[in-house]
Amino acid sequence: MLKFTVQAKQRSVRYNARMKIAVIGAGASGMTAALQAAWLGADVTLFESNATMGRKLLVTGSGHCNITNDAVTASVYTCGDECWMGTVLSHFGVPDLLSMLETIGIPARKTFDGWYYPLSNSAHSVVEAFSSSVQHAGILVLTGSRVLDIRLAKNGFVIRFCKSGRVDEASFDRVIVSAGGCAYPSLGSRGDLFPVLEHLGHTVLPARPALAPMLLDLGVMESLQGVRLDVEAGLWKGERCIASSRGNLIFTEWGLNGPAVMNISHHVTLHPAGSLELSLDLLAFFQDEFDRLLEKKRQSSMPAGVFLDAFFSPKVSAVLLERVRIPESTSLVDLDDRKIEKLLESLKNTRFPVNGVRGFKYCQVSAGGVPVGEVDPLTLESRRIKELYLTGETLDVVGPCGGFNLQFAFSSGALAGQAAADQHRV
Ligand SMILES: Cc1cc2nc3c(=O)[nH]c(=O)nc-3n(C[C@H](O)[C@H](O)[C@H](O)COP(=O)(O)OP(=O)(O)OC[C@H]3O[C@@H](n4cnc5c(N)ncnc54)[C@H](O)[C@@H]3O)c2cc1C
Repeated sequence: MLKFTVQAKQRSVRYNARMKIAVIGAGASGMTAALQAAWLGADVTLFESNATMGRKLLVTGSGHCNITNDAVTASVYTCGDECWMGTVLSHFGVPDLLSMLETIGIPARKTFDGWYYPLSNSAHSVVEAFSSSVQHAGILVLTGSRVLDIRLAKNGFVIRFCKSGRVDEASFDRVIVSAGGCAYPSLGSRGDLFPVLEHLGHTVLPARPALAPMLLDLGVMESLQGVRLDVEAGLWKGERCIASSRGNLIFTEWGLNGPAVMNISHHVTLHPAGSLELSLDLLAFFQDEFDRLLEKKRQSSMPAGVFLDAFFSPKVSAVLLERVRIPESTSLVDLDDRKIEKLLESLKNTRFPVNGVRGFKYCQVSAGGVPVGEVDPLTLESRRIKELYLTGETLDVVGPCGGFNLQFAFSSGALAGQAAADQHRV
């Protein structure tokens, strides 16, 4: 903390202590923007419609807060411009985030597969550390304050907001919009500033559910409710695979949930209902072992059910064999090549008609919002309205499950906060 105070003091020589900045939204992105701007000497007011800061952060990673990921790189994001994302991440990437979090009291730990969590394993401690730093940085926090409008004024902006039923206005030199998108509206973000941004001159692409559970006709596999599998999932429009993802999924009463399908769900709403199929490769995670055992046992009396049980739970094996009408007790040697091929095709390329995705209430992020091309990737400043900055989920960016969306929220917030506090930027 001491180290940071000294750094902030040194830097404040370059920065104007009187730059008045409004940050709208105290989520991951807004709190980061507010902190970075205040550390550089700006006079920051943070507006938040919820009664407390960081409500969505509290539920991330099932309450453990998956902060970021070793695999963060521009190409994993869907945002329409990989170079744009590359610029953001090269100016505030994983090491910068980890260092900032450590500074405010959130040391991180990494899982064997490169996913970062707070050492405490608690999203609560992350929100507490942010709240405490925001307080110590002298930021004016207006919780329970919903911003209704942003108006251009002669020397900056006028913000109209409602607090405790009273509508008020305040003037600022610069405004950072970190109001999120439309995902999980019960936690505060409902896209209510999109019409305001549109009125100010921005394009706003329609919000769509992303990282959402998928609605599917599962046929006989409907009986697998609650079962988890590691698979490769593909989304097909006719003979064209438009997206694919590897990971875990879980069978539910209405379809599939889990990273393998959530990661490709934002493509679904771009296509007419009923035009897509989902494929599952159930062997993707152990193809070599499967091939070896099949070769070894192909001419043996091993029952098909026992063979599949080497890779799946008995409940799953039974359903997989039922799909291709092979009795579990049939010996492998008694199955002709055609039957074996049918089984392999079913395991490698199980297809389901896609009925849609679950709505904003059940998804983790939303696609849509302001296209990234309308903001500068170095500063997150709007290319349409000078001294207005847009960060986090307000922009049309979707990362996969695994800490990628929080990394973008933090990165964009940090760069916007630093740029907005810089008096030399006019
Ligand atoms: C259940 C769940 C689990 C998740 N888990 C993870 C995870 O483990 N790792 C990961 O990387 N990502 C995860 N995500 C996604 C991640 O939470 C978001 O990408 C991230 O929170 C976006 O941050 P943000 O600051 O842009 O928006 P938000 O977190 O949505 O913050 C926006 C804030 O603005 C406020 N606001 C909105 N409008 C106004 C207004 N008009 N006036 C004042 N305030 C306003 C809102 O109340 C809100 O607090 C998860 C999401 C969900 C829903």
